[in-house]
Amino acid sequence: MTIKQLRMKVVEQLYQIGLEDSQQIAAWIFSHVLQCNSAHLIAHETSTVKPDEIATILKMAERCADHEPVQYVTGHTEFYGLSLHVSPDVLIPRPETEQLVELSLQEIKTFGAAKVIDIGTGSGCIALAIKHASPQMKVTACDLSQSALEIVNTNAQKLGLYLHLIHTDVMSDNFLSDVGKGYHLVISNPPYIPDVEYSKLPRMVRDFEPSSALNCGNDPLKYYRAIRDHLDRGLVHDGGLLTLETHVDYAESVCSLFSERNQFQVNLREDYSGKPRFVIVKPLNEHSSSTID
Ligand code: GLN
Repeated sequence: MTIKQLRMKVVEQLYQIGLEDSQQIAAWIFSHVLQCNSAHLIAHETSTVKPDEIATILKMAERCADHEPVQYVTGHTEFYGLSLHVSPDVLIPRPETEQLVELSLQEIKTFGAAKVIDIGTGSGCIALAIKHASPQMKVTACDLSQSALEIVNTNAQKLGLYLHLIHTDVMSDNFLSDVGKGYHLVISNPPYIPDVEYSKLPRMVRDFEPSSALNCGNDPLKYYRAIRDHLDRGLVHDGGLLTLETHVDYAESVCSLFSERNQFQVNLREDYSGKPRFVIVKPLNEHSSSTID
């Protein structure tokens, strides 16, 4: 069987069960198994696929037809130009989070060897992208999930990037003593999907991605409030900042959470679809100097 014939069969199978991006999913599977890029697949569409490769491709297609995300099936995704290992222990990084990285890098481009922390790092995508783009930064990544930190460790080693990993809970009183104070950049994409919305998410998300990385229970602001309390106690260095990804419906509320204190300069930014998505918080100096030890 040729690449073209097998590809048509797989696309058809995925399309039949209603996967709109069946072409894209098939391309990911073929590129992964045949270890090539998608241009190569087209240029060599009349090449014969070996029987063991056919079997692997069909098995992977079967898993995708069962609504498992192709990134978990192949164990791999792309984020900000980096190839990352992912498993159901971590959220599959979303394109909007690449924008969070981009705007954060813009903010810290003059910072030199700054201290950065990514809270709730998951696959490590944010922390690794920052470290890759700015190797002089000292980047810490923390998460509540030990199995997520193992994935981060795998990714960091594969990419030859050094991260300081900390197993801790942003909701705990011990958080500050676990991670320390005085970061120049605090960055986070915390879980922000409330229960009512979470229960309506597609099966592909609900059945496979870790709910702990997405679902914030009944209080969509709880992680943002916890982070604000850590800012009050000196998590951010004088002149430093906090950058956050938020739910589009709660972006304004996250802004208010910080602006109601009159101690923070707060900016709301839109994502590429024009929706309010990112919040940048800069503690005002008089506040910072009075609370940092
Ligand atoms: N952007 C993700 C989604 O919509 C949610 C990420 C998060 O909860 N932090 O699936």
